[in-house]
Amino acid sequence: MDLIDNINRKLAALDAQSLLRRRRVVDTRCSPLQVVDGRAMLAFCSNDYLGLAAHPRVVDALRTGAQLYGAGSGASHLISGHSRAHAILEERLAELVAPHIEDARALYLSTGYMANLAVLTALGLDADAVIFSEALNHASLIDGARLAKAGVSVYPHGDVAALEALLANSTAATKIVATDAVFSMDGNLAPLPELLALCERHGAWLFVDDAHGFGVLGAQGRGALEHFGLRSPNIVYVGTLGKAAGVAGAFIAAHASVIELMIQRARPYIYTTAAPPALAHALLTSLDIITSDEGAALRSHLELLIAQLDADLRLARWQRPASNTPIQPIIIGANDEALRVAAALYAKGLWVPAIRPPTVPKGTARLRVTLSAAHTHDEVAQLVTALNELEAM
Ligand SMILES: *Cc1c(COP(=O)(O)O)cnc(C)c1O
Repeated sequence: MDLIDNINRKLAALDAQSLLRRRRVVDTRCSPLQVVDGRAMLAFCSNDYLGLAAHPRVVDALRTGAQLYGAGSGASHLISGHSRAHAILEERLAELVAPHIEDARALYLSTGYMANLAVLTALGLDADAVIFSEALNHASLIDGARLAKAGVSVYPHGDVAALEALLANSTAATKIVATDAVFSMDGNLAPLPELLALCERHGAWLFVDDAHGFGVLGAQGRGALEHFGLRSPNIVYVGTLGKAAGVAGAFIAAHASVIELMIQRARPYIYTTAAPPALAHALLTSLDIITSDEGAALRSHLELLIAQLDADLRLARWQRPASNTPIQPIIIGANDEALRVAAALYAKGLWVPAIRPPTVPKGTARLRVTLSAAHTHDEVAQLVTALNELEAM
């Protein structure tokens, strides 16, 4: 009983700080209109930025993939789980990033979380390596740095000068600068051109986690590297495929030698069953849509929705950091207040998640509004009206 009591005390302490999280059960497919715990809701929660998670062509491709390759892969990639579907997907992804990374090759993994662990543990394999990690990096980058043998040095958010000083003073044999491209709880972009220039000056790798940029940024949806027009052999790129691409998994794109090192040494790649090949097959259709005129039209609509939210929200008390991406945070501050506002929205049929520490720094609990090309202008207008009313209360 002592063991269980101990756990229950920890849970009660979380509850007392308004930090207990709960899951809601969604009965419908991922889309703005969802039935949640049996109730119809308008949702602004998902990272399905282009509305591909329930796109008929992607769903069809998933069905075809299952018919062609079955339900599961049966083994890890290095045993017998590496199917033709995975191989074709990796070739297609390598072509997509080829304009931005010299001699590019791509590697498909089951999740972005694992892709980030893979990159940092394999690149930071030696104790004489140092990972320079941006302060607001996603948890998966933080965990990857913890798992690596390399040392870790955290630099302040967006502070290129501070990073430069750290790099200049470092005698590490291998230097790895690791950053989110789009910060997942703030929606702003890392200064990637400046970071790349620094990395090139100091012989460091630039490791970019583009979970929220791939599919969304760039004229063809190739992500943050396309958006900034970057090209270098020293970039290691992770794009995730469960957000804008609407399916699941992630890919590492880098110089062919880096990818070969991942295949040989990255334990999060090696010691896990390969993702179902049907997912890789479905992703080929997602990539076709992302890079086609349809994808460009979805991105244009999304931009209009972002502009609408920006123009029509009139907030005085709550903070709204500048963001040109579909991630639109509204910073409320206290945990209980953020929960109260989220509950009030929920009562009006609007589902917006309240994000609390440790996901965001203490005192910056927030609503994290995410927009999708699947939203209509009218739906965004409903959210704006409700937020303007609630803030004035
Ligand atoms: C979601 C996310 C990940 C993890 O990707 P998954 O495929 O969901 O595991 C990694 N980095 C960032 C910045 C993310 O937002």
